[in-house]
Amino acid sequence: MWRRLRVLRDCGRRWQHRPALQVTNEPILEFKPGSPERAALQKALAELKDKTEEIPCVIGGEEVWTPTVRYQLSPFNHKHKVAKFCYASKELINKAINAALAARKEWDLKPVQDRAQIFLKAADMLSGPRRAEVLAKTMIGQGKTVIQAEIDAAAELIDFFRFNAKYALELEQSQPLSTGSSTNAMVYRGLEGFVAAVSPFNFTAIGGNLAGAPALMGNVVLWKPSDTALLSSYAVYRVLLEAGLPPNVVQFVPSDGPEFGDTVTSSEHFCGLNFTGSVPTFKHLWKQVSENLDRYRNFPRLAGECGGKNFHLVHVSADVSSAVNATLRSAFEFGGQKCSACSRLYAPRSLWPQIREQLLHGHGQIRVGDPTQDFGTFFSAVIDAKAFSRLRRWLDHARSSPSLALLAGGGCDDSVGFYVEPCIVESTDPRDPIMREEIFGPLLAVFVYPDHQYREVLELIDSTTPYGLTGAIFAQDRAAIEESRRLLRNAAGNFYINDKSTGAVVAQQPFGGSRISGTNDKPGGPHYLLRWTSPQAIKETHVPLRDWRYAYMQ
Ligand code: NAD
Repeated sequence: MWRRLRVLRDCGRRWQHRPALQVTNEPILEFKPGSPERAALQKALAELKDKTEEIPCVIGGEEVWTPTVRYQLSPFNHKHKVAKFCYASKELINKAINAALAARKEWDLKPVQDRAQIFLKAADMLSGPRRAEVLAKTMIGQGKTVIQAEIDAAAELIDFFRFNAKYALELEQSQPLSTGSSTNAMVYRGLEGFVAAVSPFNFTAIGGNLAGAPALMGNVVLWKPSDTALLSSYAVYRVLLEAGLPPNVVQFVPSDGPEFGDTVTSSEHFCGLNFTGSVPTFKHLWKQVSENLDRYRNFPRLAGECGGKNFHLVHVSADVSSAVNATLRSAFEFGGQKCSACSRLYAPRSLWPQIREQLLHGHGQIRVGDPTQDFGTFFSAVIDAKAFSRLRRWLDHARSSPSLALLAGGGCDDSVGFYVEPCIVESTDPRDPIMREEIFGPLLAVFVYPDHQYREVLELIDSTTPYGLTGAIFAQDRAAIEESRRLLRNAAGNFYINDKSTGAVVAQQPFGGSRISGTNDKPGGPHYLLRWTSPQAIKETHVPLRDWRYAYMQ
């Protein structure tokens, strides 16, 4: 032990002279006609055409198949089965837990520099030779356009891996004071047990980060990807393995959600949940954890980033076209299937005719279609039949409710893909469910407020929903902006001034919301990694103790 302490001290000294790792955000490529990135992407898309990739569970370092076969369908062409996969059984999930635990000590003892190297290498692979593949798989499997795939599966994922590596190395440098008589050190250990990473369908980057960030910090992980993002999740997993991640550190465990949740939360070794998805699923898992609390060896860390009911507020001093363009992007990009998508717009009465005209003009120009055939599409189909039915119910509500007027869109068609038109609805009731609940589709609800009731509308925005994820104010008047910052302080974990509510960038706007939107652990920021370490403080004293009595006793 003493030898280890000395090593630690020496390590600390070396660190002081080590320059910080310099990383910058990955540039977003443009995919202009004739560009090499466009050619590479088109080639990757052509290779996936009509193909069904077979994706196994990867447990104990082995590819495993079970009889419970499932398919991932392309949202915009549901006759195309993009992936064939299978669900891990309860026994296999338990096997994955044991295999992960067996790998834990060695992985945790590996120096953070070595662990970070693996993620830096994975980032370089994604930035270069594997970029087109993950983009194409995100487009075909999750229905993203070129740019939406690029900002997610390339830029954000690469940024997560690079910045997390930087933050982990900086954390290691964060050491306590040592004195002349003692040396103190902080050892950033992984958690003792396994972490379950449960990812949503809508961001390839999130899956990679939910599994990757705890692994970087020395944890072993069971990654349960989303059924509707299997193709891209597996591509990311393969990249991590090829970058040098040892086989058992992250187990790839596609499975039925509730079966996975029941099994992991009933293991005594369960020590963390890294979840992104809907509020009901996170609440359910939290309850299961509390029911099992007496079993656990540790108090599990629970991190959950969930839904939102994100707002755009237009003040009478706003630059109208900027507010409208930002709203069209935020509400409709990726078919409104971003947790941060704007789904309620508050417009002042005097500007409403202008806003309405520009919104409708923009709406008329939006092309919805197959994003792999027509790069001019703004968004594509929604993710699956379940989402399509849910949105159809919202459209029925918009048509039948007396307080709602359908201004544009309202159609949907699932004959080829799960297509829902962009839809704009005006509500005269600011508390209609359409203004309160997460919709997660291309549906924008608008409430028009009297100009002089600015303060009241701020209070309304703050109190209308239980969510607190993102929101934006559009105003030129500084006093109005300051007032919105004060009154909406708890209404959004990510607050934008004259910018849309979506598009958080790693290291620039660490992301997450409070209230029921989640635990707000801010992935993409430096503090996130603290959730995935259990630091050990070590003191080594150099001066022998010669007397048990204190001086005052003499
Ligand atoms: P979801 O809750 O349906 O599923 C998320 C994951 O949980 C999936 O992998 C699913 O299979 C799994 N799951 C379902 N039941 C489970 C259970 N009982 N135990 C364990 N796992 C279970 O969410 P989704 O439809 O994939 O994603 C959309 C939701 O995610 C939206 O509400 C969106 O706002 C939210 N989201 C939030 C953020 C954020 O950062 N705040 C980011 C992306 C998505």
